[in-house]
Amino acid sequence: YAKELGKNNYQLYEASQEFSSSEKLILEEEMRQAIANEDFKLYYQPLVDASTGAINGAEALLRWYHAERGFVSPGEFVPLAEENHLIHEIGSWVIQTVCQQLRAWMDQGLPMFPVAINVSPIQFMNEELVAFIEEQLNTYNIPAKYLKLEITEGSLLRNEKTVLDKLQRLSNLGIKIAIDDFGTGFSSLMHLKKFSPDIIKIDKGFVQSIGNEQTIDAAITSTVLHLAQELNMTVIAEGVEEHVQLDFLRDHHCEIIQGFLFSKPVPVETFEQMLADGYLKPAPPQA
Ligand code: C2E
Ligand code: MG
Ligand code: MG
Ligand code: MG
Repeated sequence: YAKELGKNNYQLYEASQEFSSSEKLILEEEMRQAIANEDFKLYYQPLVDASTGAINGAEALLRWYHAERGFVSPGEFVPLAEENHLIHEIGSWVIQTVCQQLRAWMDQGLPMFPVAINVSPIQFMNEELVAFIEEQLNTYNIPAKYLKLEITEGSLLRNEKTVLDKLQRLSNLGIKIAIDDFGTGFSSLMHLKKFSPDIIKIDKGFVQSIGNEQTIDAAITSTVLHLAQELNMTVIAEGVEEHVQLDFLRDHHCEIIQGFLFSKPVPVETFEQMLADGYLKPAPPQA
């Protein structure tokens, strides 16, 4: 894969450079064991309607519980898993587990909502990805509208025809695509021209600076919201932690909010308790 990616794509691997090569070998072996022992878990972070607080979706986020290291963050192990190719196996597990979970919720007769899965650029290049997703939807008998994929701008950089074909096939299946961390990649606006995502997730870096005198971040946020409205795309603001951010986003007609202000990512049992009520309130302002 590394060859195929070419030397322009070294930034994919940057985050894993904090590990020495011997540490990486140990972690790779531990990751294999973790797959076998099912030490990976999915947490779910609710997405809420900005005006009502109704839970109208969730993002599935991977957690690795490591016996000695405790929780290893996906920000650390996903880049490593991309490097040693285990991301395909781990990613398949994520897709299957989400489909299984959706089936369980449907069987319980819950009011349904879409769950978003993160797909990293290396996973996205896998030629079997679309077929695998289709197969899992069929196996668990899940309508495609309950599954969303979050890809980053990094997934859109490669061989244009292959990428656009893949996006078209997913869209034909009825799967909605979100661009994650929007605005942090190269030529973000060009990507919108090449392909119309259903959803734009404005990066938490912009959102979190709102209210902290970073007027440029607020300006970028409101511009993205305006642009998305013109283009008929939904915007999700991620990383919303403060009331001032929520107020700003509401004022600029952002529809969907994700952030610690409403909830952190939580284990499935906790998420189901939230679903029982169906609404979340923002945490009270800090004194
Ligand atoms: P992401 O897809 O952009 O996910 C959002 C990240 O922001 C999550 O971090 C989430 O916990 C965090 N977040 C949400 N709200 C707030 C907030 O209000 N404040 C702060 N400070 N953070 C907030 P997490 O779970 O550590 O995941 C980090 C990244 O790891 C994800 O970023 C995604 O790129 C990757 N990742 C997670 N799960 C998977 C997976 O199943 N597959 C792949 N390929 N990547 C994954
Ligand atoms: Mg995401
Ligand atoms: Mg993001
Ligand atoms: Mg991210």
